[in-house]
Amino acid sequence: MTDMTIEALKAQGVRYCIASYVDMHGVSKSKMVPIAHGADMMGGSEMFTGAALDGVPQEVHDEEVATHPDPDSCIVLPWQRDVAWFASDLWCGGEKFAACSRNILGRQTAAAAKMGYRMNLGLEAEFFVFQDTEGGGFAPLSDLPHLDKPAYDTVRLLDNLPWLSELVEAMNSLGWDVYSFDHEDGIGQFELDFAYSDAMTSADRFTFLRFMANAIARRHGAFASFMPKPMGERTGSGAHFNMSLADGSGANLFRDPEDPRGCKLSELGYQFTAGILRHLPAIMAVVAPSVNSYKRLVKQGSMSGFTWAPIYACYGNNNRTNALRVPLAGGRVELRAADSAVNPYLGAAMVLAAGLEGIRERLDPGEPNTDNMYLLDEAELERRGITTLPRTLEEAVSAFEADPLAKEVFGEEMFASWVSFKRQEWMSYLDHVSDWEVKRYLKQF
Ligand code: GLU
Ligand code: MG
Ligand code: MG
Repeated sequence: MTDMTIEALKAQGVRYCIASYVDMHGVSKSKMVPIAHGADMMGGSEMFTGAALDGVPQEVHDEEVATHPDPDSCIVLPWQRDVAWFASDLWCGGEKFAACSRNILGRQTAAAAKMGYRMNLGLEAEFFVFQDTEGGGFAPLSDLPHLDKPAYDTVRLLDNLPWLSELVEAMNSLGWDVYSFDHEDGIGQFELDFAYSDAMTSADRFTFLRFMANAIARRHGAFASFMPKPMGERTGSGAHFNMSLADGSGANLFRDPEDPRGCKLSELGYQFTAGILRHLPAIMAVVAPSVNSYKRLVKQGSMSGFTWAPIYACYGNNNRTNALRVPLAGGRVELRAADSAVNPYLGAAMVLAAGLEGIRERLDPGEPNTDNMYLLDEAELERRGITTLPRTLEEAVSAFEADPLAKEVFGEEMFASWVSFKRQEWMSYLDHVSDWEVKRYLKQF
């Protein structure tokens, strides 16, 4: 199988192979191998010093980790057709390395399979495309005057079509089936929607997409930014997780057209949702993993009005002000709290583990919230038992640290490494005094 893959790649002109795996942030890291050594690479020949990467809990003297590429993940780079990329699991000392994002998700998909389920995941990609400007700034490619509400703007969509169409065609050449794309509510912000897949394939694709969007944007003198909130007064970039479970035959188990609660969601779907709600504070540390992530999770941007990003731990029907939403057609649950900086493997592992717990314990999330949650007052929120999502990375990491499910999903070593890295990230942020503070306070008295 492996040799056949490599032979087939060679026959179509591939000269190099990439054994890729991700650091804790979900960024592709790799070694490259001339195709003549492709079969060795598939067998695990490529070794890495784990200590060189963020969040790989290894010391410099520890045994190296090896990439074991997944033949099914093979992607020939659409913009550079002599290079093939493979997502890989990490191994160490002859066994799967516990602190590898892909293995962490693999453990949860295996747990789901044992219960007879396969998780399907659709990740919505929102991101900005900017060009560098003189003096270290950035600006959108389309130089029309700033609009207060650029959402769905046709002129900007067309202005950006040169790079957008190259990216969309690249995605479709890989069989990802982009079905819609638009200009979003931020200046220079876009969303590309493509077909869902099983959780591992979707995580591989999202990892690759961030890398590919940048490679293609660069060819147009631009860069793609997956920073969750690059402009304070505008909306940020979500990476909504659209989740459902299927049975062995692939049938969706979350759909129920007769649902008495009116969301067209099955009892299993409600239990899954309730499990996620129970662990949402801890999940936030993983799906909104940066200091900047929490600047996205606000009600309002001063220029763009509502942000469409959640602020409360609650679920509801098609209404977009809930952290978890059941879109109109039913049959899936959308986690809106996740942002574009997510490590998709770790995020998917956390939501799947929480959802399966909800199923095992037959949890009930209560009645769906159908109102504009941004407008509810404190008393009403309290009456419904709705709490606020963590307001900072620090709060989310504390919730993560306090939740036993987090340690169970991440495994002892990755858990410790994640908490310590994220705490350092927070401390480094606190060390920084922003321009806003200086402007506001330096000469106030
Ligand atoms: N950009 C919004 C967010 O930060 C989502 C907008 C939408 O619903 O597409 O989640
Ligand atoms: Mg959107
Ligand atoms: Mg969405």
